[in-house]
Amino acid sequence: MQRFIGLVMAACLLAALPFAALGAGDEQKKHAYDVIDRNAAATAVVGDSLFYFGELGMQEHESAKFLKQTLEGIGFKVEVGGAGMPTNVWAEWGSGKPKIVIVSEIDALPEGSQDPKSMARKPLVQGAPGHMEGHNTHGALAVAAAHALKLTMERYKIPGTVAISFGPAEEQLISRPFLVRAGYFKDADAAILVHIGDNMRTTFGFRNYAAISAKFTFHGKTAHGAVAPWEGRDALDAVELMSIGFDKLREHLKPTYRGHRVITMGGIQPNVIPDLAQIWWYVRDASGPAAKENFDKLVNVGKGAALMTGTTMDMEFVASAWPQLANKVIAEAMQANIDAVGLPKWSDDEVKFARDFQTSLGLKAVGLNTQPIKFGAAQQSFASNDSGDVTWNVPTGTLDFAAGIPGVSPHNWQAAVAKTSSIAHKGEVAGAKILAATILDMLTSPELMERVKVQFREDTKGTEYFSLLPASAKPPLDMNRETMERMRPEMRKSYLNQVPRFQ
Ligand SMILES: [Zn+2]
Repeated sequence: MQRFIGLVMAACLLAALPFAALGAGDEQKKHAYDVIDRNAAATAVVGDSLFYFGELGMQEHESAKFLKQTLEGIGFKVEVGGAGMPTNVWAEWGSGKPKIVIVSEIDALPEGSQDPKSMARKPLVQGAPGHMEGHNTHGALAVAAAHALKLTMERYKIPGTVAISFGPAEEQLISRPFLVRAGYFKDADAAILVHIGDNMRTTFGFRNYAAISAKFTFHGKTAHGAVAPWEGRDALDAVELMSIGFDKLREHLKPTYRGHRVITMGGIQPNVIPDLAQIWWYVRDASGPAAKENFDKLVNVGKGAALMTGTTMDMEFVASAWPQLANKVIAEAMQANIDAVGLPKWSDDEVKFARDFQTSLGLKAVGLNTQPIKFGAAQQSFASNDSGDVTWNVPTGTLDFAAGIPGVSPHNWQAAVAKTSSIAHKGEVAGAKILAATILDMLTSPELMERVKVQFREDTKGTEYFSLLPASAKPPLDMNRETMERMRPEMRKSYLNQVPRFQ
């Protein structure tokens, strides 16, 4: 895989043109920047409102309703509930080609409730979910960029379509394969994945891993463990044998694979032969097809375990993802805009806050980033993201934007701190400018779009996308429902109840 990427990189280096030859005019970009600047307060309301909704995946009902109203308020056509998911948000404005889709997510994490103004652990609602990765900022940036794009396209008569996709349940790797399967990206020319970070960053190549997650349930027969064990059919034995069987398989898998599991059901007490046991697996690899190959072998191991124990097995598919493939030509255009816009100008207070917080966490007090990360190819990580499926269907760029505090790792309460502060707000504004400028480049330069497509064909040559979803797979609509319904009444007390006014 690495060698394949190397060849692709070499091929497109030869074809590369200077960045300055591409894209939208400075006047158009300046127009977009002015719109974004004058709407900074409204943008902050979007990000902060989403923070206090703090909704878990598949249950983003308040967030979706709010975004629908907000996006309709800026003139977009909005669909909520597409692809069989009640909290899926898809918005569009404009007409014809090219069609560029901003792809992001707005879900929170379990037990992440945290007062964003407190440097110490202080849940807003004990045990409630919250934005401890900062996905709330994604909504702000996407809306701000979309609004500026619409006004700039109207003003300069730029043809094309801008769409925004907020897919449910990114944290559980759920929605994008369903969106792709439902045809949402069929007529798109490019997509841009946006995600919070602590710097402005784009990249190209493989960013992460493919994954398939499924639960295997074995059904046996209970019997007294001492008096008549021969009458039992032990479902836990099947689970153990499946685990051991996969361990035997490990030697014969390519070194790029990953396989990990937990036992989610394993019987009640030792003197009752378990008639029900379950093991939950994640199987990963560097490419979609390789992950599928490993997964098919795992399924056979499970079948063997059932045969050995006289039990029956059913498989419940949970989630899947292709690795994210980032387009180098889009990345070059994005990097030129990152270099032009730069990092926000942080105030002394903001830097002090960041340093004090870092110190309180025992981190190095580095403050906030002031220079963009050096441009280069992605390091393929072993994690996965369901937006990977989009990237094999549409040429895709990525933008990580500086709205977080360096050193603070996501998925813990510390990463919720300052996500409604001026640090987050400035990051949303600067990120929106970079995003809008890059989309303007793509809308106004057929030559750039042609090169984007050539790059995509090169990158995907020899790898045909197929859905890792079983044909019968349906989105898990009940996921997180009980928690959200239990927590929402208390969480409601923190809602901002403000209407963002874009102009
Ligand atoms: Zn995320």
